[in-house]
Amino acid sequence: AAKEEGRNRVRTFDRRMLESDAGDTLTAEMLRSAVTDQRISAVFQPIVDVTSGMIWGAEALMRLKDPQGRPLSPETFIPVAERTGVILELGEWMLHEACNLLANEPALPVVSVNVSSRQIEDPNFVGTVAKIVRAAGIAPSRLALEITEGGEISGNPRVALLMDELAAIGIRVWLDDFGTGFAGLTCLSELRFDMVKIDRFFVQSCDTPRGAKLLKNIIDLVGSCAQKTIVEGVEEAHQVELVASFGVDLFQGYHLGRPMPKHELVSRLAN
Ligand code: C2E
Ligand code: MG
Ligand code: MG
Ligand code: MG
Repeated sequence: AAKEEGRNRVRTFDRRMLESDAGDTLTAEMLRSAVTDQRISAVFQPIVDVTSGMIWGAEALMRLKDPQGRPLSPETFIPVAERTGVILELGEWMLHEACNLLANEPALPVVSVNVSSRQIEDPNFVGTVAKIVRAAGIAPSRLALEITEGGEISGNPRVALLMDELAAIGIRVWLDDFGTGFAGLTCLSELRFDMVKIDRFFVQSCDTPRGAKLLKNIIDLVGSCAQKTIVEGVEEAHQVELVASFGVDLFQGYHLGRPMPKHELVSRLAN
């Protein structure tokens, strides 16, 4: 009886915690069963080489439907998945999906997968990633993990260790959403990233001379710390030329390609 009571208490607690914006209730179980119910999928957004205009890679993005088949926004379900720990299972599914795509498409150099700090903190994380890469039979350097700047990353000796372990295996680590958190510069100074992705905020505000100057300087700053730079959120044609003139290596955005199902990405690769 005590056990039953305990379980009920946990359930009530969960319900209150997981109230989503839409007023719906996202439960851990509903997110977890998305894998077996095939309500989870991955879409892939092209990452384009600025110089050649060719697809250089793709970012894998998670898509989830509720049991009624309605799409849920990542902004809504990712935080719940992180809070409840279900992100470990969903994240592993994404890693499999990305590695399978790489295995099937030798012409695709790199696929990146977003990982949350909850995954990174899992002591089995590196082992899990290594196992998935090995099982897919791909070169580890074709997989990149995107981690978002933030307090969990900077000043965390475990993250530094994790990055060393991943580097030893050959898996790349990128810093995502640079410039929006409070810890971006600390992250850059403490850790060595293979690539830094500059947040789309800076493209969206580059139409003024001041905004353009800021973006140019961020690209220079980031370029001095990482091997390569990506600018995210290129939505319009005129931004392509501007961003390219600032010496960025790669870009990504609706103008260059929306997140798409893998068969679409594959047919774009062929052209
Ligand atoms: P993110 O990692 O920064 O991913 C980029 C987001 O910007 C994606 O939103 C993408 O669709 C959107 N985007 C791309 N180009 C443009 C553009 O030109 N303009 C605008 N306005 N937006 C653009 P999405 O797919 O809704 O994902 C939102 C966030 O959810 C991601 O931000 C990431 O932090 C998280 N997320 C998505 N999939 C995963 C996943 O598999 N695991 C984890 N841990 N987080 C994920
Ligand atoms: Mg990302
Ligand atoms: Mg991210
Ligand atoms: Mg981003």
